[in-house]
Amino acid sequence: MNHPPNTPATVALAIAGFDPSGGAGVLADMKTFAAHNCYGVAAVTALTVQNTQGVSSVHPTDARVLKETLVSLLADGRIKAVKIGMLANRENAEAVRETLEANPSLPAVLDPVFRSATGMDLLDRPGFEYLRDHLLGRVTVVTPNLAEAAALTGLKVENQEGMKAAAKKLVEMGARAVVVTGGHLDKAVDVLFDGQELECFVGEHVKPDNTHGTGCTFSSAIASNLAHGRQLSDAVVLAKAFVTEAIRKAYAVGPGRLPLNHLHRMQHNPRPIDLSPPAQEPEPAP
Ligand code: PLP
Repeated sequence: MNHPPNTPATVALAIAGFDPSGGAGVLADMKTFAAHNCYGVAAVTALTVQNTQGVSSVHPTDARVLKETLVSLLADGRIKAVKIGMLANRENAEAVRETLEANPSLPAVLDPVFRSATGMDLLDRPGFEYLRDHLLGRVTVVTPNLAEAAALTGLKVENQEGMKAAAKKLVEMGARAVVVTGGHLDKAVDVLFDGQELECFVGEHVKPDNTHGTGCTFSSAIASNLAHGRQLSDAVVLAKAFVTEAIRKAYAVGPGRLPLNHLHRMQHNPRPIDLSPPAQEPEPAP
């Protein structure tokens, strides 16, 4: 029997930690890729134990297993963009650098996450220094939040002026492009600097505030848009709109922080299924 040829999928790769509560890490990335019509594949850098109330432990993947996974996934030859999130340690960061070196034309988004919002370290100190000194300059764009931008640059980053200064400093330090995210400021502003142009994107500050996995989702949304061939500035604008709506539609899955609603575009408030028995046909009149 003749089958029509398979349509090639737009494949996006997440290199990130596993959050079993699904709000951050590779599960958030996979949902975000799916919402952007990308087929998601993942290389897990660490298992974390966490629920909506916080991270209780971190268990890094053996760097050799991570490397083998990356080589295997990339050998299929279809990956169009990569998002890099939690790395856990220096050995994993080195494996990622080798992968980027072997695939220099692959668009890559680096979310330089080193600590959870609830205070657990997600990257050791040597890993953080390695990321700053050896990964920053090898990706298409790096997406620090205020705390990450401050830790990477040594600057105080507390407002829009500080964000602009940090973005410029990160480019001086070797980054090709930077988005400093300021979702927690009064106005949810993001600053994009690509070494030439500095753009500020002001978004709505939507409630709720106590969201989990926002950085993961933003970076994987940018990666999805790059995978589809969009320009960086367009990818950032679209990712910001996506995250804003995913926060607006966030849901409570536990008593702690709220995961974003990554699949909000696929939900049209379906009516509950009526399981009551069908109404009886009226008896025919005698
Ligand atoms: N867990 C994993 C696996 C993550 O990748 C991240 C963030 O990148 C977090 C937890 C922390 O997310 P948040 O700071 O929103 O709690």
